[in-house]
Amino acid sequence: MTKVTAVDIFIVGGGMVGSALAARLAPSGMRIALLENHVPADFDPSSTPDLRVSALSPASIDFLESANAWTAITTMRSAPFKRMHVWENRPDQGTLFDAGEIGAPWLGHIVENRLVQLACLESLKSYDNATVLCPDDISQISYQPESSHIQLKSGQTFETALLIGADGANSQVRKAASIALDSQQYPMHALVATVSIHGGERDITWQRFTPDGPQSLLPLPGDYASLVWYHRPSEVRRLLALDDTALLDAFRQHFPKALPEITGLVHRGSFALTRSHATHYVRQGVALIGDAAHTIHPLAGQGVNLGFQDAEALSQLLLNAWQEHHPINALSLLRQYERQRKLANHLMQRAMDAFSYGFSNDIAPLRFVRNLGLRLANHQSPIKHQVIRYALGLLPLPGRK
Ligand SMILES: Cc1cc2nc3c(=O)[nH]c(=O)nc-3n(C[C@H](O)[C@H](O)[C@H](O)COP(=O)(O)OP(=O)(O)OC[C@H]3O[C@@H](n4cnc5c(N)ncnc54)[C@H](O)[C@@H]3O)c2cc1C
Repeated sequence: MTKVTAVDIFIVGGGMVGSALAARLAPSGMRIALLENHVPADFDPSSTPDLRVSALSPASIDFLESANAWTAITTMRSAPFKRMHVWENRPDQGTLFDAGEIGAPWLGHIVENRLVQLACLESLKSYDNATVLCPDDISQISYQPESSHIQLKSGQTFETALLIGADGANSQVRKAASIALDSQQYPMHALVATVSIHGGERDITWQRFTPDGPQSLLPLPGDYASLVWYHRPSEVRRLLALDDTALLDAFRQHFPKALPEITGLVHRGSFALTRSHATHYVRQGVALIGDAAHTIHPLAGQGVNLGFQDAEALSQLLLNAWQEHHPINALSLLRQYERQRKLANHLMQRAMDAFSYGFSNDIAPLRFVRNLGLRLANHQSPIKHQVIRYALGLLPLPGRK
């Protein structure tokens, strides 16, 4: 007979969000299993920065601190930024957000996704009650409200009171629980590159809006930066087909002269952009977090920040229920998580859509209004301070208590 291992929580997906949730819950003593099918490469301090990076807000950093992972991330490497410059036509007609204006030390840190994952997995090593199954994959999931079964390709079988889907946009957990997904492809792709840079300021992120889509440059540790160029899918394909010299020429030609000089190309890739939202985040005995529940236009770098907010909200509820000996898989408990997060994520998706549409066109009246808006925002301290506080995760979205 097959041996079945019983756990309290089985998390599918050990990306940034799933591994951080596991690390946050592990000190409680719950029996946790975390399944991840890709082994992240060890950190090598002499390596160049990865292609996949994220701008983490202070709220996300607080959550990673509570998961005992943040110190390990900064010990590896990260790039704090104090200012954020946004403009359309000319840099001197845009808005400069500065953390100093509200007395904060920085607006956020740019980190490599893999290092967040490595730090969370390292944090989990201190707990005998947490099992990391990596690399392994699902052979079969049988979702049941009281107790789900997960059969792995390695041959192990688990039984769990609560199944958590942190398995990204193509979530198998979501499908196993028959939760539908509303999704829509954006008519633009993101070309992402790690580039080497020379000169210029390094504690600042730049974003310029063009009729084809935004362009941004984010500082990375050392003489590197992450460049993101949103454009029509056909144009991104054309650019990616260029050799390194021609692609660098295209960056130099189309990116603003006000940025640090782009001197070399380290990595390149492209991403299709989809807005998606699960119709439910929970059923009895199952919950979705992070990209498994929602994906968003990355222009303001909010995707994983929303995922960490999901993980924070869910972990609070689970830890309280566990401490009070209440069931952690009850629908009433999980619905509280859904109520806290679903509308907030929906509003953020809509705000990003409005930004993306409002800026990615060349309609003259709109161009006038948005430039006026950027210039006014630069001179209106109260508005600017609210935006900065929101970016720091210190304020809820408008319309939320
Ligand atoms: C171009 C671009 C730029 C972005 N920039 C930012 C930014 O600056 N800031 C920000 O907040 N967000 C950003 N995002 C969004 C961010 O990358 C995602 O929101 C984030 O990666 C989601 O994390 P996750 O852990 O929920 O999902 P994922 O990163 O998709 O992780 C899911 C994990 O589950 C594993 N998995 C899946 N299926 C299985 C299975 N069957 N068995 C075992 N393991 C499985 C996968 O291997 C993976 O490790 C950006 C996105 C893009 C495309």
